[in-house]
Amino acid sequence: MNDRYDVAIVGYGAVGQLLATLLGQRGYRVVVVERYGDIYPMPRAVHFDHEVARILQSVGIRADSNPIIEPYDNWYEWKNADRETLLKVDWRGVGPSWWHTSNFFAQPDLERELDARARAQSGVTVRRLLTAVGVEQNDGGVTLTVRASSRSGTNGSGSTDGMDGSDGTGPTEEISARYLVGCDGANSTIRGLLDIPVNDLGFFFDWLILDMIPNEPMTFDPPAWQLCDPARPTTIVPGGPGRRRWEFMALPGEDIHELNRAETAWRLLEPWGVTAQNAVLERHTVYRFQAHWAQAWRRGRVLIAGDAAHLMPPFAGQGMCAGLRDVFNLEWKLDLLLRGVAGEQLLHSYGPERAPHVRHFIDVSIGLGQVICVPGKLEAAERDRAMMAAIANPELAQPAPPAPRLGEGIFATDNPHAGTLSIQSEVRYGGRSGLFDDVVGRGWFVLTTAPEPSIARSAQEALDRLDAAVLRVGPAGGAADVVDLDGRYGRWFDELGADTVIVRPDFYIYAAVDSTELSAALDELDSQLPSSAGVARGSADQG
Ligand SMILES: Cc1cc2nc3c(=O)[nH]c(=O)nc-3n(C[C@H](O)[C@H](O)[C@H](O)COP(=O)(O)OP(=O)(O)OC[C@H]3O[C@@H](n4cnc5c(N)ncnc54)[C@H](O)[C@@H]3O)c2cc1C
Repeated sequence: MNDRYDVAIVGYGAVGQLLATLLGQRGYRVVVVERYGDIYPMPRAVHFDHEVARILQSVGIRADSNPIIEPYDNWYEWKNADRETLLKVDWRGVGPSWWHTSNFFAQPDLERELDARARAQSGVTVRRLLTAVGVEQNDGGVTLTVRASSRSGTNGSGSTDGMDGSDGTGPTEEISARYLVGCDGANSTIRGLLDIPVNDLGFFFDWLILDMIPNEPMTFDPPAWQLCDPARPTTIVPGGPGRRRWEFMALPGEDIHELNRAETAWRLLEPWGVTAQNAVLERHTVYRFQAHWAQAWRRGRVLIAGDAAHLMPPFAGQGMCAGLRDVFNLEWKLDLLLRGVAGEQLLHSYGPERAPHVRHFIDVSIGLGQVICVPGKLEAAERDRAMMAAIANPELAQPAPPAPRLGEGIFATDNPHAGTLSIQSEVRYGGRSGLFDDVVGRGWFVLTTAPEPSIARSAQEALDRLDAAVLRVGPAGGAADVVDLDGRYGRWFDELGADTVIVRPDFYIYAAVDSTELSAALDELDSQLPSSAGVARGSADQG
């Protein structure tokens, strides 16, 4: 039996990597076990949003200057076989988190960046070629059983042959930790060992995915679009700097092995003017797009996150984004637990907060999938008529749905803005100018425009417990701690109809209140973070 770690993570994809990095930054002892010998090389995520850009900012990956990321500033269009527009999604400009609404990249590149950051943390140990095969837990912690592989590395050809360490021939070992997080992907071993069923929406379609490197300039207008042609539904989007992504839906009855051949890929690319003379086929594979989510996200000290907890088709570019949000939600809760500031009941909030948010994106992705995954001409013609009528007639147009909010959890009761995302912009603080998170930091904050919000003693104790800072935000020339350089914070307070906002470390609003109600809100927050003493350990809650 090894020394005990604070947190063990199973799975070193993007989600496990981010969690390891964040916990490592906080100084925890973390072990990650991963069955593969190297980064998974297949084509997967290419898109993340402004909120995820802010999350990546917290580990030093900057969407505006990192060469693997291409910020996007255009529409995402859906067109029929005659190239008529069915739907336009506005991906122009920046989002509330300051970063671009949409950003393109290649997942293996991002995983390399995250891997470097995780390994730079002295407390993080990454152990590849170990497969998790068993979990046991008691009131004090978790014991993970892993089996070593006798194989190593990828074969470098873009195939996963030789990557899989689960050949079952190696010796077993036990690893002990206070908490365990299964970030082990769609077929999660940990979810299986916890006996957690999934809700499956029964949506599934097979698609051929191609990552292409053009070796001459190619122009696409718009750069990201979906061809909803029943003869071959096709996705055409950027694939990160220097790359383009094509995705072709398998037609009913089509042989998947035949579809996944390089020759087939080149044949399908030909109508797009892409040939072996002007582009390189970097990698290709066929995936089955599915939609499901776990019925529970936790059993006692063991939790699941990322694809282990939910799966959605990629049409909204949100699967990995959702997983990164999961662990951004979880890491500050684990920190409060591990520091003894709060009790294990805090983990009750993880699944209930995240699940409705994820459901929103599953539903959006399925809705988009139902637009494009239409292989029948009649059905497609019907769809075209309805969607073109809606786009032509402003009265039929649906307003954009509000941004999703987190579900019930660590939020002020009956507060209309609780669970919505806060903003980030440029500020001056302590003599430095820059983005809020860069110059002020990350944690619990009370941001206020009130001159001197009165804080009762009990409320001050809550602030001290959380290391929360109370910061006055305002224009230059006043008495502000944080100078609102572009006026965005001022406009945000106006929109919220509040002069004081309590913001959590994952950037979500705990409460937006009048400063006279601040103490009451902080008292409620304190009551929601039960201290570790007096809390039943190892509860088998389903949160
Ligand atoms: C074609 C396609 C396009 C996509 N496009 C987007 C997009 O544009 N934007 C977006 O946000 N998302 C997108 N996604 C989704 C995104 O790729 C996934 O959501 C993301 O990879 C999930 O990350 P993860 O870390 O949870 O799981 P994974 O990346 O699957 O990592 C899980 C890891 O756990 C390891 N593992 C599994 N079992 C064990 C075990 N027993 N022991 C040890 N290790 C184990 C695996 O080897 C793996 O490395 C796309 C997906 C596909 C297929």
